[in-house]
Formats: sequence, C-alpha cells, structure tokens
Amino acid sequence: MILLLEDDPAIADTVAFALRREGFAVEHRAWLAEARERLRAAPVPELLILDVGLPDGHGLDLCRELRGDPQPQLARLPVIVLSARSEELDRVLGLELGADDYLAKPFSPRELVARVRALLRRAQAVPPAAPGFVVNGARVHLDGQPLSLTKLELGLLLQLLQAPQRIHSRDSLLDAVWGTSADSGDRTVDTHIKTLRAKLREAAPGRDPIKTHRGLGYSLEP
Ligand code: CA
Repeated sequence: MILLLEDDPAIADTVAFALRREGFAVEHRAWLAEARERLRAAPVPELLILDVGLPDGHGLDLCRELRGDPQPQLARLPVIVLSARSEELDRVLGLELGADDYLAKPFSPRELVARVRALLRRAQAVPPAAPGFVVNGARVHLDGQPLSLTKLELGLLLQLLQAPQRIHSRDSLLDAVWGTSADSGDRTVDTHIKTLRAKLREAAPGRDPIKTHRGLGYSLEP
C-alpha cells in the first residue's frame, strides 16, 4: 500500500488514479496529523509520497521524524517528496532529510509511477543489513535456527539490528530497552549482552556478530 500525503485534491486525485490504474493500493491523507496517525497503524505502508507544503506543517519534518523512528519499517520507509518549488535547495534539503527521491511540481503522473516502481524495486533489492537474521515480530532466527531469548535479550538484539555496524552506547541501550525509569547500571547491559551472545553462538557456531567497543558500547557486524 502506498500512502499519499497531499493537500491539493486535484493533484491527489490524479496521482491516486495513476497509481491505482497500475495496480497499486493507495491511501490518501491531506493533513500531516492524519498521516502520522496512519503510519502508526497496521499495515505499515510500503512507500510514502509526501507533499512539502501541508496545511498543518512541513512535509519534510515528517521525513526527518521517520528517519529517526525506532520502528525499522518506518525508519526505512521509502519516501518520494513532491514540491511546488523546483529550487535546488529544496531538493538537496529533501534528500538530506532522508527522502529517497524528489519530484518538482508540475510532474507527469507517469513519471511519478515510474519513480515509485524504481524505488520499490530498490527497496526490495537492498540486502538485509545483518545477514543471517530473520525477525518476525518477537521471533528471531539466526542462520535458520530459532533463538530462544528473554524479553530483555530480544530488546537488545532488535535495538542492535536497527542500525547494525553503528556503535550503540550502553546508555542508549539502557534507555531503549529498560526505559529511562529503570534503576539499572551499565553492568546490567553487559550481563544481558553476555547471555545474548552465548545464545547467538549456540545457534551459529563460529559467528560472533556482537562486537564490543571498549569504552563505547556494542555493534552488530556480519
Ligand atoms: Ca501542498
């Protein structure tokens, strides 16, 4: 499903019509607030078409929010930005804030459909960021082996999987997994990383995907 956020009814109708004719399911929203609400609901859209000038704010703000979202599906949601202004600055800003593609108005619906197809293909072709891991809700497999994780181990692993190869500090892991109210220290993180690591080794002997960065934190590496 493609979520179309556009407040101009004529443009929204044209775009939705062109996409539906090509077999895409489309949901349309005209307000940022409505789109934010829809993005929190299931199923998560496969792609977002985002107008910049909206009655309740700036479309690029939503783009930036998405890129920082803790839910990986939202953080990686393909975004095409539509803007009435074709200035280079807008284009650069859009791409810097995490948009995947950019179209200046007026554009041909056929061009937009082609961009949508290309972007969906690209999104599907991206190899998994952490090879070997398959996540399905609370169930995680490594190299085909189901992992039997505690709630905290699962939380830590999902956190690492969201941005593999990035170093996650103990503080950020504590915040994300235990919550800010938790009365726990750095050692708590280390303890659960240790048991998580043992379970990963058991499922995939010879692999040790969690790397320790002394004094900094942990990352996940292929
Ligand atoms: Ca607009």
